Amino acid sequence: MQQTRPRIRKPRHIVSVAVLTGLALTSVTSAGSPLNNGSEASAGPVGAGDQAVSVVDEAALRPCRITGTMGVQMSEGLPTPPGFARSTGEVRALTLMIDFSDAPGKGPARDRFEEFFPQTTKWFTTSSYGRLRYRPVTPFTDWVRMPLPFAAYGIDRGSPYEPGYRSLVQDIIAETDDRVNFRAYDLVNILVTPNAGPSALDTVLSVTFSGNDDAPRADGVPLANTSFVYSRQDDGSGSYGETGFRVLPHENGHVFGLPDLYTVDGGGTVGHWDIMSEDWGANNDLLGWHKWKLGWLDSAQIRCASERGTTEHLLAPLASRDGHEGRAKLVFVPLTETTGYAVEVRIRAGNDDAVCKPGVLVYRVDADVDTGNGPVTVADSERDSGGCTRQPNVHAELSDAPFEEGETFRDRQHGVRIAVTDEDERGNFRVRVTRR
Ligand SMILES: [Zn+2]
Repeated sequence: MQQTRPRIRKPRHIVSVAVLTGLALTSVTSAGSPLNNGSEASAGPVGAGDQAVSVVDEAALRPCRITGTMGVQMSEGLPTPPGFARSTGEVRALTLMIDFSDAPGKGPARDRFEEFFPQTTKWFTTSSYGRLRYRPVTPFTDWVRMPLPFAAYGIDRGSPYEPGYRSLVQDIIAETDDRVNFRAYDLVNILVTPNAGPSALDTVLSVTFSGNDDAPRADGVPLANTSFVYSRQDDGSGSYGETGFRVLPHENGHVFGLPDLYTVDGGGTVGHWDIMSEDWGANNDLLGWHKWKLGWLDSAQIRCASERGTTEHLLAPLASRDGHEGRAKLVFVPLTETTGYAVEVRIRAGNDDAVCKPGVLVYRVDADVDTGNGPVTVADSERDSGGCTRQPNVHAELSDAPFEEGETFRDRQHGVRIAVTDEDERGNFRVRVTRR
């Protein structure tokens, strides 16, 4: 029921997912979106109201909505199952700063809050093109002291929900419920005093329990989607003030149903192309696939290359603001009902500060591969090149992965070719997809 990870050398996060069994899937009314009255808990893609998406377009996209099977806890498949927090519209994030008698908060709790805000809000606004309006709410401006010392909860890296986290969440509710209406929030952020537990350089405790319908309840709702952030992810490079907040959008990504893209071997499958792969280091965005999954790209911005033959597509940079009618941001080439290739343009803009080689990113998505096992694999246009970045905590080898004008991605086994035929001065790329 809970996912735990073996100890690993490099600092990483753990997502723990509660039951995604048939039982949980039917429990829509107690999902993590109380403001929705239980009717729309899913964070799946939706057609935006300002886009006239025809029925024909939706039908054409159907082969590209790959789906996982029931064995996968947290899948890349569409749509995201119910139980996660919604990812569009106003999302209210109850944010509590907590400390312990054996790890008392140093300095004002407000300073802890300001390590993450307003940067996290801005990050979501930019990444979602304004489709997610993130509202952090802090009913307590001081540290909320837990009744037990930190050590008493027995929390370590990979700790399951039982018994430590259940006990901690019960205590959080007991200490705050008289001033908090939990029903009014879509997700919960627990910003733990950074002196509780080990340094993030040794081990990262930060964790999210999402879709957890079995969590303790308050005001009639379970605390189903809760992110815990611990010690500062400060690599000593002096960039903490600028980039240290990024653990929170990563953890909240789980709350919205996104899996971890790093594996036990680190960030080598996706590199710095998605915050669910690497959240230390320079700012970076989410993959276009994730933006479709979250409802931040709508159907009019997706092209589904499911037919045999050759199709051409003009792709706008993923980071560009909306308002370019008719231009796609994501081409998907389905291989099976559970896998396919995604194609998008990445440039240094928006949240993508670390891009050192703009171009067309091609990656394989597998909805049957679980969180942490490598559900996404980026195709490297220049293998064993060493990459084009030397920024700290940015996976170097994949930093030059995008394909440039004149370059072609080939999958001979499936008979798929994706050729970059043209780049214009505004950063749009034309791609030609051929499949036999
Ligand atoms: Zn994670």
